[in-house]
Amino acid sequence: MELTAQLSAKFELLQNRYPVKRSALIPMMMYAQDEYGCVSDEMIAEIGQRLDLNNVQIEETLAYYSMLHRKPLGKHHVQICTNVACVLKGGNELLERAKKRLEIGHKEVTNDGVFSLEEVECIGACTGAPAMQVNYDFYENLTSVRFDRIIEDLDAGRRPEPEKVISGALHERHPAETPLISRRWGIKDSRKIDVFLQHEGYRGLEKALKEMTPDGIIDEVKKSNLRGRGGAGFPTGMKWFFVPKDSPKPKYVICNADESEPGTCKDRPLMEMDPHQLIEGMVIAGRAIGSHQGFIYIRGEYRYVLDIVDAAIAEAYSHGYLGKNILGTGFDFDLLIHTGAGAYECGEESALMESLEGKRGYPRIKPPFPAVVGLYGCPTIINNVETLSAVPSIILEGGEAYANRGTPKNGGTRMLCIAGHINKPGIYEVPLGMNMKKFIYEVAGGIPGNKKIKAVIPGGSSCPLLTGEEIDIAMDYDAVAKAGSMLGSGGMVVMDEDTCMVDMARRIMHFYAHESCGWCIPCREGTTWLRKILERFHAGLGRPEDIDIIADLAKNMLGRTFCPLGDAAAMPTISIMKKWRGEFEEHLKGRCAYKSAESQVGSR
Ligand code: SF4
Repeated sequence: MELTAQLSAKFELLQNRYPVKRSALIPMMMYAQDEYGCVSDEMIAEIGQRLDLNNVQIEETLAYYSMLHRKPLGKHHVQICTNVACVLKGGNELLERAKKRLEIGHKEVTNDGVFSLEEVECIGACTGAPAMQVNYDFYENLTSVRFDRIIEDLDAGRRPEPEKVISGALHERHPAETPLISRRWGIKDSRKIDVFLQHEGYRGLEKALKEMTPDGIIDEVKKSNLRGRGGAGFPTGMKWFFVPKDSPKPKYVICNADESEPGTCKDRPLMEMDPHQLIEGMVIAGRAIGSHQGFIYIRGEYRYVLDIVDAAIAEAYSHGYLGKNILGTGFDFDLLIHTGAGAYECGEESALMESLEGKRGYPRIKPPFPAVVGLYGCPTIINNVETLSAVPSIILEGGEAYANRGTPKNGGTRMLCIAGHINKPGIYEVPLGMNMKKFIYEVAGGIPGNKKIKAVIPGGSSCPLLTGEEIDIAMDYDAVAKAGSMLGSGGMVVMDEDTCMVDMARRIMHFYAHESCGWCIPCREGTTWLRKILERFHAGLGRPEDIDIIADLAKNMLGRTFCPLGDAAAMPTISIMKKWRGEFEEHLKGRCAYKSAESQVGSR
């Protein structure tokens, strides 16, 4: 098929850039769809011929990813988030408004092909809820009036100015503490290399390459007590130490920028405002484990962030911080950015590697762990954006100084997002160990209308929920675990006293049922049936025996699945059933005493 000159150049670049050709499959389909509105039969044949893949290989991969489509979308694809943080702020009402205004339903296209509509899962804009994307543009803090204006503009051929995290006054650092990895936020052009260099940029790398041995770097990271910021909290230095030194195979460093855990949107501004800090952390990690190739796997929805990071990578090459003989030390390191295509499961490290290899994001059975058998069967470390962004500071100020910013075994600072029923939603950098209640009331401004807190998701929707009485605790991995939950990915969602917990259980399960890859039965069947029962229950059609069925089903999923998604679905459900069982019993009487969302969208 005849491609546009631009797409043809993009394809040439992609098909020759990876160690294994098939890795180019998902980016090629994404860019083709951007150009032609979908991935057509002709496009499948074209890509297959370029990557030596047959139609079945391409179609079965395509079908896995929610952002890839076989039928054309509208020119403006309106995607409305109704996940937890958005639903608390009127996401459902916004969706209804959109259906009425556009006169189409979920996954439908207007007759003139100008608009299509989709109800989507978390888009990473939780602190600006309710939010939507039109194609790749973000629009946050929406009201019905603003929504209508955006649609009018698009209809008239104008592009309304999209939201950038950097423009939001709601995204702040904690003013009482010295920020570390967000310290350059707010500085004009902080993403540019010249500005980065004026503010200690690449000095950690210089020290690591010129003054330290690879083992010395790993020791420093171990000393820092840096724990993975993606969710699991595994000690980073230990992860790097597990990479075999004597392996004859290439070694890889992957940055997991597939931030998709509902409630979490802190990696987006870290990349948007300080991409060089992340690049610097990756080169240092490469030096530590003896790797010469890195990949940044970024979620498909964050296209404008991908463009920012890609531009920063080009700057780093032109200034000699990437490529051959970095800083004249003889160390080589190349870095590629790679787009995902909409699959929460790809945030799991082994599923991410499958996806990066151009396949469905199915998790691998472990052991072997990625440190030994990872990408393309080679030793690999995978770290989250925030984790890698902390590395330059650790090298520069020393592991011990970094550790001292937090609590024992919980070194450093943490980026926290806070959303839902809160006066100052935003993204804050705080020392690990700060009191959760203090954070909610003193840093994030407390609850609108001085209402009481009913529930808090402390670190992303997979965490067990805490009640308002359980939040007087230190926010570090161990203290939150002792309180029966997890610090997770740092995505906190606050629910006030009027929130319907049956609706929250329903919405959380809807997400996990949607995202289950379907490989193992307890997860595939468990999430599907729990979603069905919870939807029925919330609709007022619950039966008394359903309450125990929900609790039993969730308990039986725990620890019985190949990857952590099964547990992620079960844990919040178990905690809701235990702590708010009374609300389920109330629903059996046919009434809901609570409203689940503010009606701001419908009324303004
Ligand atoms: Fe797939 Fe769920 Fe099993 Fe994970 S737990 S492998 S997402 S079916």
